Amino acid sequence: MRIANVKGRLKLVIGDGAVDVAKASNARFDASPHAIYDRFDEFKQWAATIETADEAFAAQDAGPPSPFPTQVFAIGLNYVDHAAESGFQPPTKPVVFTKYVSAFSGPVSDVVLPQGSVDWEIEVVAVIGTIANAVPVERGWDFVAGLTAGQDISERELQRSGPAPQFGLGKSFAGFAPMGPVLVTPDEFDNADDLALGCAVNGETMQSGQTRDMIFSVPTLVSYLSNVVTLYPGDLIFTGTPPGVGMGRTPPRYLHAGDRLHSWIEGIGDLHQHCVERR
Ligand code: ZN
Repeated sequence: MRIANVKGRLKLVIGDGAVDVAKASNARFDASPHAIYDRFDEFKQWAATIETADEAFAAQDAGPPSPFPTQVFAIGLNYVDHAAESGFQPPTKPVVFTKYVSAFSGPVSDVVLPQGSVDWEIEVVAVIGTIANAVPVERGWDFVAGLTAGQDISERELQRSGPAPQFGLGKSFAGFAPMGPVLVTPDEFDNADDLALGCAVNGETMQSGQTRDMIFSVPTLVSYLSNVVTLYPGDLIFTGTPPGVGMGRTPPRYLHAGDRLHSWIEGIGDLHQHCVERR
């Protein structure tokens, strides 16, 4: 199953088209994409009975699939070669920080560049579908509603400032968390643990990786986090980025006004960000 948030309404995405969930279900399910994660299993069963789309789906009208999560987790240094380009040994435990909800946008957006060094990080974003406490690794996927594509856009100077750097603010300027275009349930993938992902700036490929190279897999992250905190339906986990960020290049390369950042994840879709100058 694929779902999307189109102008604040929940849509079931079928082929190139869509179905408005509140209308098609006679308001059994709310129009708000936010509400669906509390009833995700019931919703999936209903959605399986809907076979044909009756309206167009345009990614440029989409918003983030889970627009108001209770919590947002992001994982740093989760690919060996990205840890290396960042100057670190591979972590032995997940490196966890947050991005703030005010940074969210849909999959097609303008990003106003703040002062500093703005960088790209394509990531699989896992959305929680069932309340999770102390989940064993082997059951981790059972608590995931689905996956979407996300960019963990990062202003490196603020991210790395201070005696004990706190990543959250440097990764949370407005528009620094584009997501979408759809949420895809794990059963839709041939192998949800091995997806190709990458990004390009102005057509030049910068990142190209496979999620099988993650140090901590999606189920491992669900297990690790849920052994400390409760995970709620709709919560997000940005799962970390493969190598090829601008900070790790020689010389470093960052985003400038006019740049076009194109990101993709196999089986999910594409993100398109246009960088614009701050006025
Ligand atoms: Zn990241």
